[in-house]
Amino acid sequence: MFYDLHIHSALSPCSDDDMTLNNIVNMACLKELDLIAITDHNSVKQLYHLADVAQDKIRFIYGVEIQSREEIHVLAYFLDKQLLDTFQAFLDCYLIEEPNDEYYFGHQYIFNEVDEVVNEERRLLIKSLDLSLVEIIDWIHHHHGIAILAHAMSERFSIMNVFMRIDEDLDIDGIEVTKEDHRTLLMERFPYLKNQFWLMNSDAHRLEMISEPIHQFDEKEFFGLWRKRYG
Ligand SMILES: [Zn+2]
Ligand SMILES: [Zn+2]
Repeated sequence: MFYDLHIHSALSPCSDDDMTLNNIVNMACLKELDLIAITDHNSVKQLYHLADVAQDKIRFIYGVEIQSREEIHVLAYFLDKQLLDTFQAFLDCYLIEEPNDEYYFGHQYIFNEVDEVVNEERRLLIKSLDLSLVEIIDWIHHHHGIAILAHAMSERFSIMNVFMRIDEDLDIDGIEVTKEDHRTLLMERFPYLKNQFWLMNSDAHRLEMISEPIHQFDEKEFFGLWRKRYG
């Protein structure tokens, strides 16, 4: 199936204000993707109406891009809508507080199912949580989610940028890279990563950045990540 599991809505300050639920879903449909996830920075507040918008147009899973205290990004995915409140309470509790300056960083809009702005997040979302990467991964696993290292080799907010290695005992479910040769490089350097689940997403902050139908994975293998961990 063709996927893009790393898309930012207008709730992320760095995203365009037209990254609404309907625009994202419609663009993903136009691009003939089969599965998407909207992964805003440190918040799931945009996801409450996603099911109403996606309906039978496109499949989706719930997601969020969490920033650890070390300034490493990790993607958390979960399947059950009932977990939205749990994830949001966790993020609210640990996000290091700073008010958003919308003129500098951009607005953080929350939409309803017809793309009306119903709220605006006032806390700046592009901050770290006051938790380590390991603590965040543990929390995700205690709440039936899977944890994927985001853009693992990027120059900012990545594990390789911060730690310059990926330890064998880091309890992750997969690794996102932005280029195919990043995966090759990582597997050469750390052979124990060969059995990891690898993803390539757009990290779209603008509508036209949403992936073309080029990245595919086996549906069974992807959803098998939950079976592997939770039985
Ligand atoms: Zn990121
Ligand atoms: Zn991102």
